[in-house]
Amino acid sequence: MSTETGTRPDRVGIVGGGVATGFLLRALAQRGFEGEVVVFAAEQHEPYDRTEVSKSIARSGHAGLRPLAPGSGARFVHEAAEALDPVRRTIASTSGEHRFDAIVVATGSRPIEIPGWDFAPALYGADSALGVHADAGRSALVVGGGFIGSEVAVSIAANDRAVTVLDLAALPLEARLGSAVAGALATSWPERVWRGGTTIESRVSETVYLLSDGEQVEAEAVYTALGARPDSRLWGASAVAQRDGRIELDELGRTSAENVYAIGDAATWRIAGSGRWHPAAHWDDARITADVCAAQLSGSPSRALGDHVPYFWSEQFAGRIQVVGHLDPSVHHIEILEHREDGAGSRPELVAVASDAGTVSAIVLLNRPRALAVASRAVRDRIAVDSLGEHLGLQGAPR
Ligand SMILES: Cc1cc2nc3c(=O)[nH]c(=O)nc-3n(C[C@H](O)[C@H](O)[C@H](O)COP(=O)(O)OP(=O)(O)OC[C@H]3O[C@@H](n4cnc5c(N)ncnc54)[C@H](O)[C@@H]3O)c2cc1C
Repeated sequence: MSTETGTRPDRVGIVGGGVATGFLLRALAQRGFEGEVVVFAAEQHEPYDRTEVSKSIARSGHAGLRPLAPGSGARFVHEAAEALDPVRRTIASTSGEHRFDAIVVATGSRPIEIPGWDFAPALYGADSALGVHADAGRSALVVGGGFIGSEVAVSIAANDRAVTVLDLAALPLEARLGSAVAGALATSWPERVWRGGTTIESRVSETVYLLSDGEQVEAEAVYTALGARPDSRLWGASAVAQRDGRIELDELGRTSAENVYAIGDAATWRIAGSGRWHPAAHWDDARITADVCAAQLSGSPSRALGDHVPYFWSEQFAGRIQVVGHLDPSVHHIEILEHREDGAGSRPELVAVASDAGTVSAIVLLNRPRALAVASRAVRDRIAVDSLGEHLGLQGAPR
């Protein structure tokens, strides 16, 4: 816990009205912040839970669109900020230049798009997911089988629509979870939904596509889910210290510019006890950066960012995957400790561990929500891989 607190500004300007801003508005209210807050938001919706885009919004339309910080008291300017000066602390939009005591950068990410593919909207915001829902009844192709692409396929299939996911990788989520875990999860995909090793080469007609493996497929709607990158267009050329396309934070969420903060996907910070930096890319990163920022703005104590154990989840055909810790299949050794095809409620269950020199770096759980708290502690304490089975109470582990 840090007692080093910020300057309690009277006027705060936030750029971006997404998940991190939703969490920040909530946290400011909880911490009793009394200043004026102005949010510049390019999207017309007030902050909503973007993680529902590929899940309930794609499946159920507006019914899944729930505001994150209703009645926060912040003033929303639904205009894109066009310039930001971190030294003068000004934000400019079409309505003019506005000066603040503190500025928060919350510009998030934007989806990777393929030039010329106007027929295939990228799945990222609520409006794209509302489009998926409005396409009800039409057969669909999803290009890109990462977390978002495969979640959208789950949502489309849940509405009894035919869907095929195309991806250059052999297995869904291989690059994110490693081939052993990806292979175990792939067995839950319905037949003919996954098509690995291929992508769209060209559009032959309104509904026919030539694939890179030479085959032609028909689909009435095509969407892309090719990943996302931090949206640095507003601040990329500014003097604020950056690393790999994100803004560097110190352990209290401060940037290199005085009274300028960054939250959510725009941010990166140093992992405690290691030389590595954590790139924010998930809902929980947005939550924790918003909380330390709110502590600074309201002059109250907070914990240090570097001690936070990262967490994310995803809803897949196999069920709910939860990952705690730092997981990088290109660096870590990943092994499956337990895999049951017929766990509770006949759902598959899996526990896998990613390790670094014999200590636990991350844990992957499939349909094992009650193991999450113990898994988080095991990652935080960097316990030895050999003792993990016992910690988690896995069958066959020494007791
Ligand atoms: C479809 C989808 C599903 C996801 N599912 C999960 C999940 O299951 N679990 C998980 O842990 N994480 C998930 N994530 C990731 C998580 O949603 C993000 O990490 C989180 O939204 C980041 O919050 P943010 O506020 O930084 O960015 P965003 O929520 O992307 O918000 C940024 C906002 O800033 C606005 N903006 C950008 N530039 C400007 C400007 N110049 N002026 C004004 N406004 C601007 C954008 O329009 C956008 O509204 C998912 C992401 C997506 C896209």
